[in-house]
Amino acid sequence: MISAESAFEPAAIDRCAQHRHDEQWLGAAWERAQVLVVCDGQALIHEGAPVYLPSGRAPTGERYLLGLVNDVPYFAVSVSEFSPAKSERAAGLRELLGLLEPTQAALTIQAVGLDRWHRAHPYCARCGAATAVAQAGYVRTCPQCAAEHHPRVDPAVIMLVHDENEEAILARGVGWPQGQFSTLAGFVEPGESLEQAVAREVAEEVGLEVISTRYFGSQPWPFPSSLMIGFVATVRAHAEPEIDPTEIAEARWFSRERFIAARASGEIRASGNISISSVLIRYWLET
Ligand SMILES: [Zn+2]
Repeated sequence: MISAESAFEPAAIDRCAQHRHDEQWLGAAWERAQVLVVCDGQALIHEGAPVYLPSGRAPTGERYLLGLVNDVPYFAVSVSEFSPAKSERAAGLRELLGLLEPTQAALTIQAVGLDRWHRAHPYCARCGAATAVAQAGYVRTCPQCAAEHHPRVDPAVIMLVHDENEEAILARGVGWPQGQFSTLAGFVEPGESLEQAVAREVAEEVGLEVISTRYFGSQPWPFPSSLMIGFVATVRAHAEPEIDPTEIAEARWFSRERFIAARASGEIRASGNISISSVLIRYWLET
């Protein structure tokens, strides 16, 4: 999985944006490509690893260029149903991301993300005509009104909120199991800066006033198409949370010692290791 830590590293995938218009380059790349076949949020796995087919054996379907990894071209092909070999089976993204090393995870997220978006946008949002894939999968164009539609990413802020004494407030969402706590998060609204979204979400969810924010890192969160943008936010000390009961079941202040003890005793469970939430909490614990 792409973690907030890997957000600071150079991307292992060269997305080759400069070649997406170049049919000759794309054709030559396809000839020697490895192909990930995707269908509605799933890919095939074999013994815990994703199945890549040489392009000569890839099924027919819309093709999306993923990019070059160590000079090998990778494409995704979208199909309406899988025809897995005997030892293969389809796996969803959550399962896949638990299995894959970061570059493979990034390719899979890109492939599934593109496939989901293309699948959901067969018609022009402006005039209703059927659209066609263009630029190796990064645009759909409308033959009737010439509109171009781009794959969408939904920005969301996620923040570790602490007070001036560095005690953190963590929350349990409505419907989450007892004892499961995480950082606060929410979608960015039109016309809002990321910092304003952090302040609004903190005020809405726990009724606290943010006095400063600092950018931390980001993580693609493809469930289905978010980009989680991480912050560390400071609120005034000793403020009592006022929770929004439609979103938050419970919010609690933790000192580092209290958090470590509660986690060790099983009183609380923090979010899974693949999420930026866990990286933010680790950062707070270790600084
Ligand atoms: Zn149109």
